[in-house]
Amino acid sequence: MSRFWSDHLVDLTPYVAGEQPKNVTDLLKLNTNEHPYGPSPKALEAIKLAANDNLRLYPDNESIRLRAAIAQLHGLDSKQVFVGNGSDEVLAHIFNGLFRRSGRALLMPDITYSFYRTYCTLYQVPVQLAPLADDFSIRVSDYTQSHGAEPAGIIFSNPNAPTGMAMPLADIRAIAAANPDIPVVVDEAYVDFGAESAIALLKEHDNIVVVHTLSKSRSLAGLRIGFAVADPQIIQGLNRVKDSFNSYPLDSVAQAAAVASIEDTAYFEQMCRAVIDARTQLTAQLIGLGFQVLPSMANFVFARHPEYDAAALAQALREQNILLRHFKQPRIDQFLRITVGTPEDCERLCNSLVKIIKKTH
Ligand SMILES: *Cc1c(COP(=O)(O)O)cnc(C)c1O
Repeated sequence: MSRFWSDHLVDLTPYVAGEQPKNVTDLLKLNTNEHPYGPSPKALEAIKLAANDNLRLYPDNESIRLRAAIAQLHGLDSKQVFVGNGSDEVLAHIFNGLFRRSGRALLMPDITYSFYRTYCTLYQVPVQLAPLADDFSIRVSDYTQSHGAEPAGIIFSNPNAPTGMAMPLADIRAIAAANPDIPVVVDEAYVDFGAESAIALLKEHDNIVVVHTLSKSRSLAGLRIGFAVADPQIIQGLNRVKDSFNSYPLDSVAQAAAVASIEDTAYFEQMCRAVIDARTQLTAQLIGLGFQVLPSMANFVFARHPEYDAAALAQALREQNILLRHFKQPRIDQFLRITVGTPEDCERLCNSLVKIIKKTH
């Protein structure tokens, strides 16, 4: 706190990212949903090729090649694509550009990606929370039936974070149809691990905005690339925000690597499949150890053990250099969010859990 701070900074609660410890040997990082395998070798090759004298030049501020590659991948027009420095930045521009509607509230689940709440404080957007059902699913009727004043917009992740649970496309269609005059933002950070993408609904609904990241399924978290796809006029609005903030959010190296990654479909599919298979395996092993595991369509599972305190389990694993994510939040404070690693990673985790559980008995 300093007397030099702007007023709104005083009340701001920044998002707390999972830790990235340095210099710990033998560390098993299952806390930030990074991909266990590396990015496409073609992306790495593109990075080497892009590291040349042209770095003295500013990058393409319109990311023309990258937006064309994304458009082609999803059967869209480039005018429907917006790119940013990680999807967190894309989301920030969405909050700033679409949700600041003279004090109207943003409607979202009580349990979802916690960054949304942070952006609401940063951009002074009031929040209206719709509690998840007891089974942690999103209750569609909370978003299709009117509750008085029209919200500024709707946002949720699908699959949801940190539950990993996916919503069927029909439900998203119903939400978009019931709210034709406000943006419905679907954050699909984890969609490539088995859920259905709402991009298929853009043809029918001009109020849907779908946000993707290359950090999770394309294993490029270190490069910071995210994108949104929507109606061209929504994209135009996001470009206004971007060009009033930073015209060059993606450096030329990141743009080159992103194009190469998106074009390498075979590698992408193989790596998604590997994570999905490991998830199935890990889920079965955790259930075998007595955990309750929510049905996940993401590259993580959300699990609780009826007999062991989640924070205590996380601490015991931490002492063995295994990091998981634990949220001290009502309703979910007995759950652990566990990133799906390689089969070897999952085995090490389960072996450690067996020992911890035996010791505490
Ligand atoms: C990881 C994640 C993001 C952010 O991704 P970046 O592109 O790395 O900024 C956004 N939304 C959700 C739900 C995420 O889990």
